[in-house]
Amino acid sequence: MSYFTHLECSVPCGAGPYDPRVEQHLCTCGAPLLARYDLDAARAWSKSSLSGRAANMWRYRELMPLMDGEEPITLGEGWTPLIHARRLGEELGLPGLFVKDESLNPTNSFKARGLAAAVTKAAHLGARILSIPSAGNAANAMAAYAAAAGIEAKVFMPKDVKVPFIRECELYGAEVNLVDGLITDAGRIAAERGKPLGWYDTSTLKEPYRIEGKKTMAYELGEQLDWQFPDWIIYPTGGGTGMVGMWKAFEEMERIGWKTAGTRPKMVSVQAENCAPIVRAFERGAERSEMWQNAQTVADGLRVPKAIGDFLVLRAVRESGGTAIAVRDADMVRDMRTLGAKEGISAAPEGGAALYALRVLLQDGRVKPSDTVVVFNTGGALKYLDVLR
Ligand SMILES: *Cc1c(COP(=O)(O)O)cnc(C)c1O
Ligand SMILES: [Zn+2]
Repeated sequence: MSYFTHLECSVPCGAGPYDPRVEQHLCTCGAPLLARYDLDAARAWSKSSLSGRAANMWRYRELMPLMDGEEPITLGEGWTPLIHARRLGEELGLPGLFVKDESLNPTNSFKARGLAAAVTKAAHLGARILSIPSAGNAANAMAAYAAAAGIEAKVFMPKDVKVPFIRECELYGAEVNLVDGLITDAGRIAAERGKPLGWYDTSTLKEPYRIEGKKTMAYELGEQLDWQFPDWIIYPTGGGTGMVGMWKAFEEMERIGWKTAGTRPKMVSVQAENCAPIVRAFERGAERSEMWQNAQTVADGLRVPKAIGDFLVLRAVRESGGTAIAVRDADMVRDMRTLGAKEGISAAPEGGAALYALRVLLQDGRVKPSDTVVVFNTGGALKYLDVLR
């Protein structure tokens, strides 16, 4: 069973609540919607019930957005390894260094978590055509889950996206549309074309369930660290779904008694030097980011010039006492190699960026040698091999 009850505005602006038994996208005020649960009742859900459950993200199904009788469409996403990076930790003087290796998800990135949840809900709501604007990995994940659900997929990506992302979408039978511009342009074009035709838009934060898939990363960290949460979470940020999802998960875990209140990890948002709208807004003390001009980086997942949930990311970073750091492409590629050569981890440039951000925080003394740190490797290296040449 699930304690899922309703959808609520993330601002919150006072509109709603929204009924999850029908298709929902944004609040009338334009903000993302969040799934809400009866957390008082969920206090009856015990951690001990997790033992013996399947090793995927649906092991937390009591706090996943399933209605009675709904079953997930799954390819085994989640329950990725939390690797104690001892060799790298020794080199950095940080024995408590862990890497959450999201490259082991279906389609090679953590986008699988969000899209497994989104496509599951879309399928149960009777959607027939799904669309997505994507910088690459989200399109691959959506195409795979749509195939598994037997639903048509239409993906919209920047025309200079790396070739493996295109081929993998085709592999799953999706219709690929390449657009002149960035993910934000792809989003506009997909919506213009799809709205009159009733396509179900699975853009990040424009439907309420991708966050629910990604929040499971925080539940897993708790379970894998025996409910001792790390001091720091270092996370490469594009649209920010992972950041927002994990922050929401901490609140839920506190409310149901799985986590002590007042001891959340400091959240570090990592972006690319030439596409760092969140970092800039954080440094300026702004509540929202501004559209980044001429966004460019080899880390496709970070090439998001403006995120609809920017205010939620900034809120999480600030409330946690964390920070936001921009990394040069050359540094992220170098540390992509470090993760490979030191730990045997296949890292995307986004994962390399997170490791480099940790170096910065160690250097200036904000991260202490006795801290426990989780670096997120959000995807694998294989679709990005051209950057290693
Ligand atoms: C999409 C993506 C990101 C950014 O994730 P958000 O949750 O949208 O901020 C980071 N790394 C990789 C590999 C991605 O595909
Ligand atoms: Zn609202």
